[in-house]
Amino acid sequence: MSEIYNRRFETTLEGLRQRHLHRAPRVLDTGVGSETRISGRNVLLFCSNDYLGLAGHPALKAAARDAVDEWGTGAGASRLVSGNLSLYRDLESDLARFKHTEAALVFSSGYATHLGVIPVLAGREDFVYSDSLNHASIVDACRLSRAVLRVYPHGQVDTLERLMKEDAGRGNQLVVTDTVFSMDGDLAPLQELCGLCERFDALLLVDDAHGAGVLGSNGGGALEHLGIRSPTVVHMGTFSKALGGLGGFVAGSALLVDYLVNHTRTLIYSTGLPPATLASNRAALRVIESEPQRRLRLQNHVRVLRSGLRALGFSVPEDPTPIIPLQVGTAEKALSLAQFLWEEDIFVPAIRPPTVPEGTSRLRISVSAAHGLNHVERLLEALRRYAGQAATCRVAEGCGGAP
Ligand SMILES: *Cc1c(COP(=O)(O)O)cnc(C)c1O
Repeated sequence: MSEIYNRRFETTLEGLRQRHLHRAPRVLDTGVGSETRISGRNVLLFCSNDYLGLAGHPALKAAARDAVDEWGTGAGASRLVSGNLSLYRDLESDLARFKHTEAALVFSSGYATHLGVIPVLAGREDFVYSDSLNHASIVDACRLSRAVLRVYPHGQVDTLERLMKEDAGRGNQLVVTDTVFSMDGDLAPLQELCGLCERFDALLLVDDAHGAGVLGSNGGGALEHLGIRSPTVVHMGTFSKALGGLGGFVAGSALLVDYLVNHTRTLIYSTGLPPATLASNRAALRVIESEPQRRLRLQNHVRVLRSGLRALGFSVPEDPTPIIPLQVGTAEKALSLAQFLWEEDIFVPAIRPPTVPEGTSRLRISVSAAHGLNHVERLLEALRRYAGQAATCRVAEGCGGAP
């Protein structure tokens, strides 16, 4: 291979290692669940986004198996050619019902949804407003759109309002936000954002990847949790987190969906999802409806874990979500806490820049209904030992990594 490239790769990777930013994904030898096998060790998993344990649910597995038997393994073409299996129609009509919208449209992944949809909703002449902590797929899609991009400080509606006022009348305005921020687990000020967008006749695209299935009395997501129904909202979500599968979606008016089908490049120029995935995604929507006890169990774990962490001296906010950040500061400290837990047979990887801003490295704990209360207690026990050890070290000087 090219010497110039080899040198570039080696130097860059060495730099990452020195700054404690190098990454190498671990290999799991079992499916995701509360426990898994990694490098010959049985470990407790506290980092999956399978919040309801649906990735291992018998109904989803059966739906996938049946679909393979009936339909085979691949869609064979883009949906606009011959890949638009009736499984899509069934899934999308259930999805629209789930989101209380006229229509819905399913894409290959959440990432592909944003990359396709945002450039369709905002072009060169338009303005996109994006929360500074939005997911990377939103950031990339905003760049791809070539719209004028205004990044507003996390959750700051006042600044957003000022920016929107300045730009008003010069182009269409699209506001994009995570509903539940993926690395912090906090909620966007959705009520205020809806109000602003209604006032400015703007669109509000909400990415409910971490809300769908988890929040709201029917698992409808963050907007249901907050009791918001607004005509200015375009719902986006994924099947890849609490719904235990893969795929992204947009839900909104039939007019919007018709427009997106005709313009979205990630839909037009990419092969449809495999039948197994379409079928298991649909089964997931059914389980969300028929097994509310999973959501209640998760909510209870969230309460126990958040209050338990607070009792240990960690600064943990009151958010209702299963994403709990333990911010420790440097990448090195985050790695050391992750290593401590690893040695206790608990897997929570360190989250470091560029995934999170410099100086905010953390452990991102995510809890699931697949866990038992005993698992939650085991995590708290391990962190109690860590906090105790860190306190002793602080007195004796030397090791960092206190909560
Ligand atoms: C995971 C995630 C996505 C991307 O979804 P995939 O289906 O994994 O591609 C988009 N937005 C947010 C907030 C996410 O957490």
